Amino acid sequence: MLSSSFFQRWMSGMAAAVEEEADRLTELDSAIGDADHGSNLRRGFTAVAAALEKEPPDTPGGVLALAGRQLISTVGGASGPLYGTLLRRTGKGLPDAEEVSVAELAQALRAGVDAVAKLGGAAAGDKTMLDALFPGVEAMEQAPAAGAFAAARDAAESGALATVPLQARKGRASYLGERSIGHQDPGATSAALLLRTLAEVTV
Ligand code: ADP
Ligand code: MG
Repeated sequence: MLSSSFFQRWMSGMAAAVEEEADRLTELDSAIGDADHGSNLRRGFTAVAAALEKEPPDTPGGVLALAGRQLISTVGGASGPLYGTLLRRTGKGLPDAEEVSVAELAQALRAGVDAVAKLGGAAAGDKTMLDALFPGVEAMEQAPAAGAFAAARDAAESGALATVPLQARKGRASYLGERSIGHQDPGATSAALLLRTLAEVTV
């Protein structure tokens, strides 16, 4: 079972991972966007880590809901409301309990990913964060609980790599038309990082 502390460590791990990868995320965004994805997420997850440390929620759902609210209120770019919605909706989809199962997280994450698709109007193959999130959540649902997070990480990382040959149909990168082809999507890259971080949290 996964405790609130597990979810806190997922979020603080993500803050550290974003710090480490910020330059790379911004570099990817400079090729097909406006070079702020790393700094957007750094600002957002720094605020998430600080808020969680100040007032640690006592349920897993509370941790993700607070994290989502922080992202929505601190990140100006498209990714703030999208990641904020992902975490808030996932948090709200978890049972109101001290601990939740891997299967319950997979189910809640599915609702979170669907909420991102609804908010941004994007579908699979549009070269967005969804191209890592859809395969990631799918793998988490399918794999046995013991290997679910590793499977989600692998699927999300493959999904992020698979955005390279795609033409962007949503977000800023879509303004480039065919010139968006040949670059990895920054949001798909950070979404894979979120699931990689999850796979690295010790239960
Ligand atoms: P902005 O585009 O406002 O500068 P960021 O650079 O922080 O915001 O985030 C860009 C990422 O957001 C893209 O790489 C893409 O993955 C994701 N994104 C943009 N628009 C959408 C959308 N409509 N649906 C899903 N993801 C999107
Ligand atoms: Mg940007």
